[in-house]
Amino acid sequence: MGKRKLSRQQAWRVEKIQAERARRAARRDTLAQETLTTDGLGPEQEGVVVAHYGTQVTVEAPCGRRQRCHLRANLDGLVTGDHVVWSAGENTGVVVAQLQRHSALSRPDARGRLKTIAANIDQILVVIAPFPEPHANLIDRYLVAAEAVAIEPVILLNKADLLRSDAGLATQMAQLLAPYPALGYRVLHTSTRADGLEPLQDLLRDRTSVCVGQSGVGKSSLVNRLAPDAGQRVAELSAAAGKGTHTTSTAVLLRLSCGGALIDSPGIREFGLWHMSRRDVELGFRELRPLLGSCRFRDCRHEQEPDCAITREAAAGRISAQRLQSFRHIVAGLEDATPAA
Ligand code: GDP
Ligand code: ZN
Repeated sequence: MGKRKLSRQQAWRVEKIQAERARRAARRDTLAQETLTTDGLGPEQEGVVVAHYGTQVTVEAPCGRRQRCHLRANLDGLVTGDHVVWSAGENTGVVVAQLQRHSALSRPDARGRLKTIAANIDQILVVIAPFPEPHANLIDRYLVAAEAVAIEPVILLNKADLLRSDAGLATQMAQLLAPYPALGYRVLHTSTRADGLEPLQDLLRDRTSVCVGQSGVGKSSLVNRLAPDAGQRVAELSAAAGKGTHTTSTAVLLRLSCGGALIDSPGIREFGLWHMSRRDVELGFRELRPLLGSCRFRDCRHEQEPDCAITREAAAGRISAQRLQSFRHIVAGLEDATPAA
């Protein structure tokens, strides 16, 4: 074969790549560059990202060993919970590939673009408590958000110890939570001030969960009970992140003493408390889903319209009045409440 003539564009690319190599070689003064370019790396193995900071991640091997890693090109979209292929190094490892995700949590960034914040979550623990007073529409907002990402939510009524001495409060909570089991949602009572966390631990074992809920319901207390070294772990991961990172907003994967993992960060705790579309809300109410499209008007708002399938089912007692009220409340609060045609 004759010598292939490079097109101008190809020649330009080769030049650019060579220039880039030269530039990297010249910069090989940092530990990071050294680790990437020497042969001191172990065999490739699978792992999970347990923390993410800017251009680095901490990866955990199946044996539990954790190491800070650099990322090969095109892996800048990695988040905590991602499964990866990586090689351990003397000081720093390298992540070489990202494995497929089965789920992802996203939230809008400052510009309103959805940004993934955690991956491979199996369940969302929606934590409520008698205090701060829980509102049905807040619970339902979290449920709608969970439905939108197709991750199973579980409702935890924490501070259940407070119900023992207050029958009125117990009745109130029972009424609030009454609609959910019939819809297929699991409801668990928990207390961080008493024994009896086993049913929760059974649920967490072998899974990766996140905790969401209002401030003050006891999320931190729960995390500390479930992962007694949580505080220390977060501190270690933060220290590993090195200088200048905003560690408080970093999502970290914590191993639980009962087995299983919990991914936690302030951003995750508020999951779902941002703008949703009317369609998200309609689809997020499980019992309304089979009725969508059955109203007389295609753009039915399910309020005063004649022949509304949802109003009819509610009148017949097949949809809980509390859930319908909550649906209407959430829809009324949407910035863009235009019905989905
Ligand atoms: P977070 O804001 O959701 O992380 O809530 P915290 O974990 O900081 O808890 C808020 C307050 O509720 C603290 O004063 C805790 O001591 C208290 N708390 C947490 N769990 C329980 C519980 O199970 N029972 C009672 N009575 N108080 C609790
Ligand atoms: Zn309708």
